[in-house]
Amino acid sequence: MPPSAVPTATLTPDAVFAPSETDATPPAATTTERPRHRYEWLATLPFILCHVAVLGALWSGVTWQAIVVCIALYWIRIFGVTAGYHRYFSHRTFETSRPMQFVLAWIAQSTSQKGAIWWASHHRAHHLYSDSERDLHSPRQHGFLHAHLGWLFSGSDKTEWNRVKDLAKFPELVWLEKYYLVPPIVTGFLVWLFFGWSGLFIGFFLSTVFTWHGTFFINSLAHVWGTRRFETKDDSRNNAFLALVTMGEGWHNNHHHYMSSARQGFYWWEIDLTYYVLVAMEKVGLVWNLKQPPERVLEAGRRADAERRALARG
Ligand SMILES: [Zn+2]
Ligand SMILES: [Zn+2]
Repeated sequence: MPPSAVPTATLTPDAVFAPSETDATPPAATTTERPRHRYEWLATLPFILCHVAVLGALWSGVTWQAIVVCIALYWIRIFGVTAGYHRYFSHRTFETSRPMQFVLAWIAQSTSQKGAIWWASHHRAHHLYSDSERDLHSPRQHGFLHAHLGWLFSGSDKTEWNRVKDLAKFPELVWLEKYYLVPPIVTGFLVWLFFGWSGLFIGFFLSTVFTWHGTFFINSLAHVWGTRRFETKDDSRNNAFLALVTMGEGWHNNHHHYMSSARQGFYWWEIDLTYYVLVAMEKVGLVWNLKQPPERVLEAGRRADAERRALARG
């Protein structure tokens, strides 16, 4: 482990996901009706404008360089979301150096999904309460559209600091939390500088919109569409299509069953591009201690698959 390594000695999955002080307050009374949400309509404006900005290409035209930038920025940044926001900051499934930790946060935040600390605080709550009345983005509780994006505009703006004490001790991450728009603005500006208006509209805005919905599909679609290998308390699913377009996040039922693993495709046929990139990064010493699912989990999964196949055969 290099001297700049981020210390994780005291960090166990239990510590990361221990209920926080705010969890002591009881949830609102459960009713059979869906909760009514109050949306902050003004806050949706920048979100809508980023979608509309793509239409700027009707005026600028579309260069082939812009298309290449769009494809490259989608894959680089969806990797930032899954390896950074999700597998590293939310779940701490591998270790890295402090500079690399900053790079991961920067790439993730260039997708304009707020600070890595904000993201992790909400995602840890999602695992603690998945698909219960306290889950902010459960399709079961709130309907598909609210789970996909509505929750972003209805009371999710606060960072729950007591859930992310392990991240809050890094001033550079706290700085990124405060100035969370710096990475996307710098990225957008550089793309405009080098690739012009077409680069900005298609290369930056279109790829940003794709990374948003790719990420949001895991909260919405991956809880309603796909198969369930493990009997988790939530509705999480495994979905090969979502896994391909989100670099492995579609193996969401695997992930909800055993979230402390750096790999979410548990078997060789479950393609998990993020994990493959992490393995390559481990080979050159950029990350290390990639956590694996234990053999008992893999064996239980194999048994469940065999039972399902037997049932299908009748
Ligand atoms: Zn997760
Ligand atoms: Zn989930």
